[in-house]
Amino acid sequence: MAINAGEQAGRRSILASGRTAIEAKGVTKLFQGAGQDPVRALDDVSVAIRENEFFTLLGPSGCGKTTLLRLIAGFDFPTEGEILLHGEDIAPLPPFKRPVNTVFQSYALFPHMTVAQNIGFGLEMLGKPRAEINARVAEMLALVRMEELGKRRTSQISGGQQQRVALARALAPAPRVLLLDEPLSALDAKLRKDMQIELKRLQHETGITFIFVTHDQEEALTMSDRIAVMSKGRILQVGTPRDIYDRPSQRFVADFIGETNFLEGEVTGITGREAQVRLAGGAVITAGLPEGFSPSGRVTVVVRPEHADLAKPGATADLSGKIENVVYFGTDTHYHVRLDGGHAFTVRQQNARGGGMGFSEGEAVGIALEPHAAQVLRD
Ligand code: ADP
Ligand code: MG
Repeated sequence: MAINAGEQAGRRSILASGRTAIEAKGVTKLFQGAGQDPVRALDDVSVAIRENEFFTLLGPSGCGKTTLLRLIAGFDFPTEGEILLHGEDIAPLPPFKRPVNTVFQSYALFPHMTVAQNIGFGLEMLGKPRAEINARVAEMLALVRMEELGKRRTSQISGGQQQRVALARALAPAPRVLLLDEPLSALDAKLRKDMQIELKRLQHETGITFIFVTHDQEEALTMSDRIAVMSKGRILQVGTPRDIYDRPSQRFVADFIGETNFLEGEVTGITGREAQVRLAGGAVITAGLPEGFSPSGRVTVVVRPEHADLAKPGATADLSGKIENVVYFGTDTHYHVRLDGGHAFTVRQQNARGGGMGFSEGEAVGIALEPHAAQVLRD
């Protein structure tokens, strides 16, 4: 394994190498249920994951995340389609011959073994010489900052430490790709935050491709180079955290990640990648279009609450309405506005300089949208 911290340190890993590490091409996975129709766990999934990337599969329970990881690891096979590793179909390779390793949600450590024995276990199975195993275990203990704990049994260390041992064990055989299936979900909130930082550090220092699974949108946004948002066996959108957050292309993505205002309207014109949309109250706003999408007729537009500002009502405002409710959150204030067309719309303002905006319940207000705040959805 190339531990090239210096070289990795300054990189934006997404740009490090444009090469594809793992690619799924038209992958469908059916599970035969008891007598009834088969479960379509994956439905025509195609995605290319780049070398050195921190790539996250994000979606609710049951959307097919674990199934996709298991196919990449070789624990199961696609019903249709193929999985490529550096461009080659890996179907003939059994799991232990794939340069891929998995960290399971449950850690699956051996309780009767020491930390060091757990970390060295995979290397022993590969028949590596003792001296090489010892050196590698020491290296891994240093990598996860557990040099002092090699001789402890894994039943005698904390949950966070067990998580580190599971990581060290998976990294020891120097996989090209590390699969992490909700590895932090068993940890409490504080430890989880620490381990998020730890995982990012490990990925930077090792330069390994990480394919990380979570159902936690915040975890995905803060850790990933790119995210694939999944629902019902399909990948709906792939992009950087900023792409996914600022330019969700579908209702599910906009709804699943962060808070969003949904507005219904009618397309009245298209200029380049933007549409003019007339909302129910008569206001016409400009909204970005998803790649390759040229709608006509009725569309849904989304606006993040923090991408809009309250203003005095007047001709310069993009929208107008009446404040129904004001909720103070310390760092910011949420204004729940009923737009003139009847839609509910939330504006989130930061409480800078202690002042607040001086808008109150019952007041008529204008809403100014920041440039590129509005985005048309595909569905
Ligand atoms: P996730 O990891 O996103 O929660 P999974 O990949 O585990 O989702 O499961 C996707 C779907 O496939 C679910 O509906 C699940 O019940 C089903 N499934 C997964 N494994 C099997 C199996 N071995 N047999 C039958 N159905 C399965
Ligand atoms: Mg799962």
